[in-house]
Amino acid sequence: MTTPPPPITEPDPSALTCPGDKIGPCAACRRNTHRYGLGGNPLCAWCMTTARDNRGPNVHHYNSRP
Ligand SMILES: [Zn+2]
Repeated sequence: MTTPPPPITEPDPSALTCPGDKIGPCAACRRNTHRYGLGGNPLCAWCMTTARDNRGPNVHHYNSRP
């Protein structure tokens, strides 16, 4: 994965395909992302990738520290 993330002013792609009331800020970078409801995640796809790279593929919990 060498694709750099877009600027945080760009919403996560998931935010473009979910209902507007399910959108919230990423817990790490504050980018708009599909945060709530079914399929939501407190981290945007970019931070998800970073977390996975840092901690390995078997991590199920995220710290919410900034
Ligand atoms: Zn993020």
